[in-house]
Amino acid sequence: MGLLTPEKLEQLVSTGCTKCRGKRLNFQMYVDARLPLMEGEPVGRLTWAYDGEAFVDGVYCVECAACNAELFSADACPRCHADGALERVLETDNTYDVPLSCPRCGHQEVSYFAMVPATTSYEGKRADKARTDCALLDPGFHGYKASCKQCGVFAELKDRCMLCDAPAPLRPRL
Ligand SMILES: [Zn+2]
Ligand SMILES: [Zn+2]
Ligand SMILES: [Zn+2]
Repeated sequence: MGLLTPEKLEQLVSTGCTKCRGKRLNFQMYVDARLPLMEGEPVGRLTWAYDGEAFVDGVYCVECAACNAELFSADACPRCHADGALERVLETDNTYDVPLSCPRCGHQEVSYFAMVPATTSYEGKRADKARTDCALLDPGFHGYKASCKQCGVFAELKDRCMLCDAPAPLRPRL
């Protein structure tokens, strides 16, 4: 269960803004993304690596698009729920190793997986596609897995939270 439950989301989007009755709501959340690397350098755009509406799990802020009223917010880590960790998660740089190539076969095309802060908006039940400006070297970008185009996943962070470094095990997601 995320900070924002599916039931609470349902309630927020059907009610809309409690101040101005606006129906368009802006969401801020952490979601999984995949970045193509060649010799450790990004060679393409980030693409989303989460299924359907699984983004609900990482939502930490919901505001009215019209009047900016804050309708939901949580300052815990969006992944492991460590108290008060959000600010640091958004401000710290990536510490997870960015591979130059696959250590098994030497192939230089690698998919690097990370959690990144993103935004989306909802109008009634319709959600827009998530967007982010957060890139590999920006604060808030946190890698946790690397996969070789030829031989699959060769590195994955499992002993601590990729966002706030709290020790594993992490709670299961949706
Ligand atoms: Zn409003
Ligand atoms: Zn955490
Ligand atoms: Zn490989």
